[in-house]
Amino acid sequence: MNTVENVVGPDDDTPKEACGVFGVYAPGQPVSHLTYLGLFALQHRGQEAAGMAVSDGSAITVVKETGLVSNAFDDRTLSALNGHLAIGHTRYSTTGSSVWRNAQPVYRDVGDHTLALAHNGNLVNTRSLADELGMLPGTVGSDSDVVAELLASELAKVPDESSDHRALERALVAVLPRLEGAFSIVAMDEGHIIGVRDPHGFRPMCLGKLDKGWVLASESPALDVVGAHLVRELDPGEMIVIDATGCRSLWPFDSADIEPRLCLFEFVYFARPDTRLYGQSVHQARVRMGENLAEQAPVDADLVMGVPESGIPAAEGFARRSGIPFGHGLVKNRYIGRTFIAPNQQMRALGVRMKLNPLRDNIAGQRLVVVDDSIVRGTTTRAMVSMLREAGASEVHLRVSSPPYKWPCFYGMDTGTRGELLAANMSIEEIREYLNVDSLAYLTLERLLSATGAVGAGFCDACLTGDYPVAIPEEVGKHILEITPTRVPDAPGLLLDSSQEALTFIASDDVDE
Ligand code: SF4
Repeated sequence: MNTVENVVGPDDDTPKEACGVFGVYAPGQPVSHLTYLGLFALQHRGQEAAGMAVSDGSAITVVKETGLVSNAFDDRTLSALNGHLAIGHTRYSTTGSSVWRNAQPVYRDVGDHTLALAHNGNLVNTRSLADELGMLPGTVGSDSDVVAELLASELAKVPDESSDHRALERALVAVLPRLEGAFSIVAMDEGHIIGVRDPHGFRPMCLGKLDKGWVLASESPALDVVGAHLVRELDPGEMIVIDATGCRSLWPFDSADIEPRLCLFEFVYFARPDTRLYGQSVHQARVRMGENLAEQAPVDADLVMGVPESGIPAAEGFARRSGIPFGHGLVKNRYIGRTFIAPNQQMRALGVRMKLNPLRDNIAGQRLVVVDDSIVRGTTTRAMVSMLREAGASEVHLRVSSPPYKWPCFYGMDTGTRGELLAANMSIEEIREYLNVDSLAYLTLERLLSATGAVGAGFCDACLTGDYPVAIPEEVGKHILEITPTRVPDAPGLLLDSSQEALTFIASDDVDE
């Protein structure tokens, strides 16, 4: 039975990214190929589906497919997609399932108007908006379906013969203030591309300039790969419209609602290291996280190693500040696809080996400092520690470059329910015992913020503090925020088992240690 209990994913123990978006307006350029390159650079934000919509000024063509960007498009398809403007999307499903129908961009035509739209983030009022629209359960594949439907109903009010070239822009201005939650959106009609960040700017988006054109992207490396230079990050609450006349900004939200709260985990884990956020290098920020960890929680050891890939810059920082040599202790298989169905416990146990394998010569007899960026459920971390011990490590000291992850994310990261979060259910000492490490320390929130280099810029830290910048409606949060009392997992046989044993923990009174 292909239930969630026996699906083993290579990143089961980490927060899941939730989509990358891209848009390009470039007359005379092969925009479908540019979009392909841009999406390729954003592949880390979602691997379940990829898609693009291309316009030649008179019609929009959409192509989307499940799987990786390289699976979704071949040369023939790209060459057939002629036009001068395009948007694209890489999807990780946080709402809706990973079937083709939920891939993006979504497309609608209403009378003379057509639109395509792609979305990064999660709305918290999807259900009430869908109810208002009269959308039947089962017809809402993703938040983007609801936003497209809202836009379609606005466009339906525009008389066909009006030739309103700004109809989509006006529809967005009417619809966007009704959305609650996290949304970085790219949208298009036949002649414009439009980028929007929600009033908190939970998810990133930046603007780039080509010689003869403009680019919008979730992260700046997607600009580099198409030869665009970074102009700037979009401000929270900003909407940018790009067309033949150039690029202009609109502010569709009430200024009182604008309050920057970029996802802190973009710095910790989600964004590529070569991305710039709030003007800062993500890689350098991660190195500083490691330096701060070494100051905060020093330990006597022989080797500092990072958990590939995102733990490595912090491990470098830890090594630099502590003076303990940096080395590699784990090799990551870079070519893992999405998920596989593990038929039994033995196969599930082997799953972690599919992702990570120890470098025995570097580890045997060594006292290790192992630096990871976060611990969400703890299943992979526990398996990894066991692997390091089997490879001969004499001590394992775990250092985590973010504070304990205690609260589920409702803004676009798939971290499961509160009952599944290790730090919501155990004290630090219980976690240390569960993971079987000699010592354990998490970076404090204050030191994490200082490591970003953007203290005071405005961050969401809800998964660490429970302080949700956008209120979570009760019907959305009820089951996800609950902690179900269960039993302590048995020690053996838990590797990558996301069934009851591995994913449920004692409900502890000291969850806010
Ligand atoms: S809750 Fe955590 S993961 Fe979600 S947006 Fe806020 S900081 Fe990011």
